[in-house]
Amino acid sequence: MDALHDPTAQIESSVELSVVIPMFNEEEALPALVERLRPVLDGTGEAYEVIAVDDGSTDRTAEDLVVLRATWPQLKVVRLRRNCGHQAALTAGLHYARGRYAASLDADLQDPPEKIPEMLALARTRHLDVVYGVRADRSTDTGFKRRTAGAYYRLVRRVIGSHVPTQAGDFRLLSRNALDALKALPDQPQVYRLLIPWLGFPSGEVAYHRDQRVAGQTKYPLRKMVLLAVDSIIGFSVAPLRLATWLGILAFLVCLGMAPYTLAAYASGDTTPGWTSLITTVLFIGAVQLICLGLLGEYIGRIYTAVQQRPTYYVADDTDTGQASSRDIAWPGPRRGEGSPQDFLDSQGIL
Ligand code: UDP
Ligand code: MG
Repeated sequence: MDALHDPTAQIESSVELSVVIPMFNEEEALPALVERLRPVLDGTGEAYEVIAVDDGSTDRTAEDLVVLRATWPQLKVVRLRRNCGHQAALTAGLHYARGRYAASLDADLQDPPEKIPEMLALARTRHLDVVYGVRADRSTDTGFKRRTAGAYYRLVRRVIGSHVPTQAGDFRLLSRNALDALKALPDQPQVYRLLIPWLGFPSGEVAYHRDQRVAGQTKYPLRKMVLLAVDSIIGFSVAPLRLATWLGILAFLVCLGMAPYTLAAYASGDTTPGWTSLITTVLFIGAVQLICLGLLGEYIGRIYTAVQQRPTYYVADDTDTGQASSRDIAWPGPRRGEGSPQDFLDSQGIL
């Protein structure tokens, strides 16, 4: 593959720190972000780059980024063709990161940029591959957000394991080692806040105060939060499948418990009434079966998506290479010329 089609080919560049920022309709937050982020990064004295990933915004985010770039040479813009979701945008940004370290943060200044130098210093002095930004408090979040986030972390720690740090979102620093380990994984939708602890790299934490969103609205409505929770559990655990087994055992035990009663009723000839118990049992068994089918469907759906091997994101263009091909730079599955599904389609004359 030629360097043009592989943005990571120039990794030996002298960039020390990459800062990856996924953005979806963040035109209102952008000026405040630049005003706070740029002095912090300039002040580190490090060679840095900022990779802004425009996740298919429908407002002026992409245009404003291009204007900003004229006066901020370290700013790079990767524009996705459509909205692919926060985690996919993060994947795209990490793909482009060339630094020896890469920090990721939200565009709405809920993650304070001032903590990035602290994270970098901690990673260097203690030779860590991952430094998590951990929310010291969530006093600025709404009560609803606090409760749902608390329930989410309790659930994932219970189902996936206690190695998942609580209250660590997507504000973190990764070393080149950790980035390369992520790249080696197949191209599937990822939940980085669970995947990265699972990789098991030496890690540390930096506590921070979670500010309010500086401008604009949250891009995580309830529907997306539920999807993230489902992806988190299904993507990392087969416990729900076991739940199906437990529900089956429970239904079996209930049936066993009812058997003497039904036999006794039959023996005494008292079998005509019983509509209530009958309908309850039928509904109960039906519900258990549907729940189990739904759970199976969640896993099968993910297997189906995985075998299709579609890239998790599509790049429209980027300021590095100026090119607009998604197929050639989808990360990290097999690329064109390396046995990718597209090679097969090419060989069949389909594309
Ligand atoms: N985001 C994104 N694509 C999406 C949704 C969100 O790139 O489909 C970005 C968003 O612009 C922000 C970050 O992900 O930089 C976190 O989103 P948000 O602040 O709205 O989430 P919240 O803090 O409310 O959970
Ligand atoms: Mg936010």
